[in-house]
Amino acid sequence: MAANALCRPAQLIEAGLVPADRRAALDAVAARYAVAITLAMAELIDPADAGDPVARQFVPDAAELAATAGERADPIGDAAHSPVEGIVHRYPDRVLLKLAHVCAVYCRYCFRREQVGPGKGRALSAAALDAALGYIGAHPEVWEVILTGGDPLVASVRRLRAVVRRIAALGHVKVLRVHSRVPVVAPERISPALAGALRAPGLATYVVVHANHPRELTAAARAACARFIDTGIPVLSQSVLLRGVNDDAETLGALMRAFVEARIKPYYLHHADLAPGTAHLRTTIAEGQALMRALHGRLSGLCQPGYVLDIPGGFGKSPVGPGYLHAEGGGYQVEDFNGRLHAYPPTA
Ligand code: SF4
Repeated sequence: MAANALCRPAQLIEAGLVPADRRAALDAVAARYAVAITLAMAELIDPADAGDPVARQFVPDAAELAATAGERADPIGDAAHSPVEGIVHRYPDRVLLKLAHVCAVYCRYCFRREQVGPGKGRALSAAALDAALGYIGAHPEVWEVILTGGDPLVASVRRLRAVVRRIAALGHVKVLRVHSRVPVVAPERISPALAGALRAPGLATYVVVHANHPRELTAAARAACARFIDTGIPVLSQSVLLRGVNDDAETLGALMRAFVEARIKPYYLHHADLAPGTAHLRTTIAEGQALMRALHGRLSGLCQPGYVLDIPGGFGKSPVGPGYLHAEGGGYQVEDFNGRLHAYPPTA
């Protein structure tokens, strides 16, 4: 991916994305965390806007060097549930399979920022992949395999096809989910051959694409997603709620509508994880709940993602959106989309 990405502070300055006087701060951050901005994303940045929402996601910031209380290297607790290299088995019926530790871009809020990037880990070797698939094969309760990373779609078409076929051949795995930022940040990689490689007989494949601002859903990104959809692979979205990127109802609503218009069903809105050096990008949960209320009040049900929090320590995801049902006097008060309460009788 490097040929299509800006990976060094000097390149960001040369491209006019960062003033030269920020070089020392950028060097310090780049020495700590991986940096890459694809040309497709760099083109979307307005260098004249100090708060550009695309730049905030990818351009290093000196604030990343300040870890705050509660932040942790493994915020969602992958390590506690990793029985063999490359596998995270947190929930009974599904596992994560991490094929790669590299990505097309490096997001400044990344929850795996201590594990992804050049020099931070290693790609799954052939022997480690054998062991990982052996683990899944020995666990017939695994119904779904989620390819994640790093970004699984940086792998070659040949490797993806081989892995997908081996997963399908296990027999008991019925669903394959592929989590990726590539269709948005490097849409030219999504060829018909790549889309086809994710399908195998007996396996229902879903792609979950990651984007956080409506500007990211360019014509090329929408076309890349359409290549999956038109080949029979449903596409869902995941976004991270980020301060200064999508933490206002208008932007978040426009993002969800843009997904739906591209036939992508909004799936998750993640509360930003407690990754080191990311406090400047996190909102409060109360702010997230208020935004979810605003979406409920103004947008089609198709545009509603689930607002979720990964519980620190590896205890899994829980929905943390606002509640609309309040128990009262043996019955309920139900809140409508305008915030008005209505009585509902107790039911048997
Ligand atoms: S693409 Fe995903 S794994 Fe890679 S840096 Fe961004 S959030 Fe992290």
